[in-house]
Amino acid sequence: MRILILGGTTEASHLAQLLAHDGRFEATLSLAGRTATPKQQALPTRIGGFGGITGLEAWLRENDVAAVIDATHPYAAQISAHAVAACNALAIPLGSIMRAAWKREDGDDWIEVDSFEAAASALGSAPARVFLSIGRQELAAFAAAPQHHYVARTIDPPDVALPPDIRFVHDRGPFDAAAEEAFLARERIDMIVSKNSGGAATYPKIIASRRLRLPVIVIRRPHKPHGIVLDSPEAAMRWLDTQLAHHTGSSRRGV
Ligand code: NAP
Repeated sequence: MRILILGGTTEASHLAQLLAHDGRFEATLSLAGRTATPKQQALPTRIGGFGGITGLEAWLRENDVAAVIDATHPYAAQISAHAVAACNALAIPLGSIMRAAWKREDGDDWIEVDSFEAAASALGSAPARVFLSIGRQELAAFAAAPQHHYVARTIDPPDVALPPDIRFVHDRGPFDAAAEEAFLARERIDMIVSKNSGGAATYPKIIASRRLRLPVIVIRRPHKPHGIVLDSPEAAMRWLDTQLAHHTGSSRRGV
């Protein structure tokens, strides 16, 4: 049975590993192409946008896809909307791995906002040292608050307009809480800007901020359309088993 995984996350890579050893499925992993040198993946991978809903529909039809798993990032709402629309149009089952959001804990000093622009103004007028723990496309919003000194950690250098006083630390991680605490102290950071990505991989910076009593400006999650909600790659495998049981193997080509 042919399946498409919309990826770019830890969960998608984990699911790819599970599927690589399961001969019942012929799976392709799709990445947006946001990093120049993506991690090695366990499955055949295609890279780059499909060309909107119609492009995704055409790809699903041409590749005779019988089920789609959306394992994209919680902030990647557009590709998820496209997956819902294309799968509905073609009556292809869609399972969505939804990563739980982080919850505020005792000692957390969070300021929650709805956009990167709102985060830039929430930093205030007094110059501060700010750690931007966000994607490189989103750095542009901080050009509107040029009074701050920014430190940003990215895998690839950004290609957007930037605030004047910004320094890059090029690193892919993972980072544990002790390393994050040392990093924030060394950089004399006053405030952090972060998405609520959820998951374990980038949570240590939240633990470190709590320990150092630093305020974190948290950008709330966007609405992300979805199919059948799955909470892990293992749950996605169980869901794919049930899809396989219903799968007739008939080709959609020429329909
Ligand atoms: P998006 O706004 O949902 O998607 C924008 C377009 O990128 C989509 O319409 C699609 O282009 C293409 N795209 C996205 N994911 C794709 C995939 N897995 N395979 C093929 N094409 C894909 O997502 P985004 O612009 O990538 O990111 C939005 C937010 O998510 C940002 O905050 C970013 O930092 C965060 N994020 C994204 C990823 C990722 O792998 N995408 C990973 C970590 C964090 P077409 O319309 O041409 O098909």
